[in-house]
Amino acid sequence: MKKTIMRPAPLTGSASWPVVTPISPSVVYASETPDALDAQYEGRVNGYTYAREGHPNADVLAARIDAMEGAEGGLITGSGMAALSAVMIGKLCAGDHVLGGNQLYGRSLRMMKDDLPRMGIETSLADPTDVEAMRAAIRPETKMILVEVVSNPTLRVADMAGIAALARDAGALLVVDNTFTTPRAYRPFEHGADIVIHSVTKLLAGHSDVTLGYVAAKDPAVRSAIYVAAVTWGLTPSPFDCWLAERGLLSFDMRFERTQQNARDLADHIAGLEGVSRVLYPTRPDHPDHNRAVALLGGQGCNMVSFELAGGRAAANAFTQAATGLAFAPTLGDIGTTVSHPASSSHRALTPEGRAALGISEGFFRLSVGAEPIDALKEELSRGIEAARRA
Ligand SMILES: *Cc1c(COP(=O)(O)O)cnc(C)c1O
Repeated sequence: MKKTIMRPAPLTGSASWPVVTPISPSVVYASETPDALDAQYEGRVNGYTYAREGHPNADVLAARIDAMEGAEGGLITGSGMAALSAVMIGKLCAGDHVLGGNQLYGRSLRMMKDDLPRMGIETSLADPTDVEAMRAAIRPETKMILVEVVSNPTLRVADMAGIAALARDAGALLVVDNTFTTPRAYRPFEHGADIVIHSVTKLLAGHSDVTLGYVAAKDPAVRSAIYVAAVTWGLTPSPFDCWLAERGLLSFDMRFERTQQNARDLADHIAGLEGVSRVLYPTRPDHPDHNRAVALLGGQGCNMVSFELAGGRAAANAFTQAATGLAFAPTLGDIGTTVSHPASSSHRALTPEGRAALGISEGFFRLSVGAEPIDALKEELSRGIEAARRA
């Protein structure tokens, strides 16, 4: 991550300038004259007017993520869900159809199943690892396809090449939620995506202290429609949150390098422990999408590892009780390792049969691996899994 220094206007009477981006909390911006304001509104000069419509901290953060994604004109939103909302509100009309992956993030699934249909937008879900299943769900009204590259929590890898071709044939916008993969492992715009979104909350900001999103579109007209929706529906972020996320983002490369290596090592370690019935990591040879993961992720992995304890719920309770050094909390992408139990959190709304169909049992855990020393992590997992085995 290149740390460009933003030179503020020389208001302070200082010949030198700060090396950290200043926070600009101003909601409104003053102009010289009505003519100057005209020039600004007509786009002849650049200038901020009102913070909901844009402010320096959002622009600095967006420019940094743009550079990582190979995007232009990206927009920061108040959350990852706000980014998705801006896309849906900005681009869809009643009567349109959206096709989504069947293992999307929980709230995205809810938007697909409940909220969009209520607004007259039809939706369907299909398995993104099976392009023929996706093709079968395409309709003449399909305007958009929404997929995540690596699914939560079973870490299945979507057939991105097949889906990009399908979107092109159908004339549908391909929207890729790149939160899990990050531009370090996959850059969707280089593979046919029209729109990329992120929950900046997760790996990009990296410290579980800020909720933000990002959205970028290839086509300037699409970009503009998303921007107008975000500003009109109030989906834009606060300056302080953007400042905090920028601070986190500066260490993203280092964190990604370390956490994906930790995850890889930890997956192999867990696989050797008694009481574990299954380990899922995309680039492990025993993963169902191993070949695709290796090809797609350009030699990188991800920081997520899932595993199943043979002993069901009793083993699961014993595990979180014993592995006290790991936060049992349903988030991901933090600098520290967090453990989630999908059956009691992200996937609790599904029936046990629905969860079983996805491969999620009562003994199933997902780790978001952090940057701790690997030996400490191995020790923690060994202790937790041993306690689970005895339960
Ligand atoms: C967390 C998450 C979101 C939602 O982001 P928020 O910042 O929590 O609104 C969307 N997609 C994925 C894959 C996520 O993990």
